Amino acid sequence: MEQIIQAVLDAIPRAGLVEVEVSARHVHLTREHLEILFGKGAELTPKRPLSQPGQFLSEERVTLIGPKGRKERTAILGPIRPATQVELSKSDCVELGVKAPVRESGDVAGSGSISIEGPCGSIKIAEGAIIAHNHVHLTPEVARIMGVTDKQRVSVEVFTERPVTFRDVIIRVSEKFSCRMHIDFDEANAALVSGFTLGKIIK
Ligand SMILES: [Zn+2]
Repeated sequence: MEQIIQAVLDAIPRAGLVEVEVSARHVHLTREHLEILFGKGAELTPKRPLSQPGQFLSEERVTLIGPKGRKERTAILGPIRPATQVELSKSDCVELGVKAPVRESGDVAGSGSISIEGPCGSIKIAEGAIIAHNHVHLTPEVARIMGVTDKQRVSVEVFTERPVTFRDVIIRVSEKFSCRMHIDFDEANAALVSGFTLGKIIK
């Protein structure tokens, strides 16, 4: 049985397929900002692990505040990061009145400004609000099987009731990844993504 399961799992990348995951709006915090929002010595409490190894959804939540609205109970993803980053969908940006560019995670220079409120304090970041550029995480082994390389741009056809092909999707390769495509809620809703969904990488 285990051999059959392994054979099926191996067949997925050979067919150029990757599981599609939807990222809801969330925040990554620096230690400094975590302590302003949650108090001196505060730590993030893991609630459940995410698909990417070492990443987790934390128990702690914050409120996002823009000129036009608020988003209560916004998720914080751990562990802490070298730069605070707020990942929003375009719909979130419209509701909050926040201007955020489409960026790769970590590329926050000159990105959107937003306020974040926690139980112990609040901060206003001059930059860090982004609409995450859709991307595919691959291990080096699977990237080799698929014939793609880190930073390559591909198209991904998502198999749903209302199929959509996303263009200009960024491939990211690392030993530390598990293989997933990440899209935001607007993209998921446009393609009627719900439940287990596969996408096919088209070069
Ligand atoms: Zn991702």
